[in-house]
Amino acid sequence: MLAGCSSATSTASGPSSTFQTAGRADPQPTGPVAMTTPSTTTAPTTIGPTTTTEPTLASVPPFEPAASEVLKERKRLGGQFAQALLTYDPETSAESHAEGLRARFGILDNDGLVDLAAEAMAPGSQSAATVRYAQMGGNRPTKASLMVWVDVERLSPTGVRSTESRVVDVRVELVDDAWTVSRLASAGGPAVERPEDLSELAASVVDHPQISMADSARWDIYSGHTTLAMLERMLEVADLMDYSVLVLSRGHPYRVFATESVSRHSVGQAMDVYEVGGQRVVDSRFEDSPTWTLARTLFDQGIRSIGSPWAFDGFGGRSFTDDVHQDHLHITS
Ligand SMILES: [Zn+2]
Repeated sequence: MLAGCSSATSTASGPSSTFQTAGRADPQPTGPVAMTTPSTTTAPTTIGPTTTTEPTLASVPPFEPAASEVLKERKRLGGQFAQALLTYDPETSAESHAEGLRARFGILDNDGLVDLAAEAMAPGSQSAATVRYAQMGGNRPTKASLMVWVDVERLSPTGVRSTESRVVDVRVELVDDAWTVSRLASAGGPAVERPEDLSELAASVVDHPQISMADSARWDIYSGHTTLAMLERMLEVADLMDYSVLVLSRGHPYRVFATESVSRHSVGQAMDVYEVGGQRVVDSRFEDSPTWTLARTLFDQGIRSIGSPWAFDGFGGRSFTDDVHQDHLHITS
C-alpha cells in the first residue's frame, strides 16, 4: 500500500507532460466498434495510415471518498462536481458544459461558471478526470468548501496526450437536508508556463524529489506568488519528511472560509499538505504517525502557526485544530 502511494506521488511530482500517441490527425469519436477489429490488439509498432481506430480516453468511475474519510457527503459531492467539470468531449463548449453541469447538479449560483469552465478547458480535446484527493477548505454546519485535486488526462484533436492537475474549489450547501453545489469558486487558476529564469530556490522546490504538488500549486510558484520565506519553509519540511502539497493559493478560498480575514494562502505564506510520508493525514491521526511527527517537530522548532489534527498548546496557541484540519496540515512560513 505504501509503495502504491509513493509511486502515485512521484508520478504527480513531475511537471505536466505531453507526448505523442500513434493517432491520426483527424480523430472521430469512437464507440465500442473499435473492439471488433482483431488487428487493434497487436503491438503499436507502426503509425501507418492503415490504423482504423482512433485513440480515446478511458472513462473514469465517479469519485467516492475512502471509508476512513471525514465529512464524506460533502467530499463526495465536491469531488464528483470537480471531476465532472474536468470531464468533457471534444465537441463540448464552455457554455454547453456549464449547461450540462447545471442540469446535473442544480447549482444554486452560476455566476462566473462559464468563465471558470473556459479557463480550465482545452477546446476540441477530450478530457478525463480522476479525483486524487478532496480536502476540506472550510466547514460550517450547513456549508463547506471542498478543495479537490483533480488529475486530468487530455487527448487533443491531433492525438496528442497531455496531463494536468488542478485544484478545484467547490462550495456546497445544505438545502432541505440535502447537500447541493452552491457554486464553483475556482477551477485552479490559469495555467502558467515554467519561466526560463525561474529562481534557483523556486526550482529546487518544484523539482524536489521529496515534494509532490498539484500543477495549480506549481503555477503559484512559477508566477512568483509564493514568498521566499514560504519556499524556504517547503525545503525545510522536505528535509524532515516527503509530503504532498494540495494547495498553495490557486484553488484555495481567498478569505478564510465564512470569515472576512484574507487567508495566508492568498498572500503566498501557507501551504496545505494532505499526505506525509506516503500516508494521508486523515489516516495518520495518531501519535508517532509521520504526520504527527512532522507537525510536532515544526511546532517544537517554533513555527508561527500550524493547523493539524492536534492542538499541542491548547486553544488559541500556535498549534490549532478543528474539523477542517483533520485531513491536512496547514503549514505557514
Ligand atoms: Zn491552509
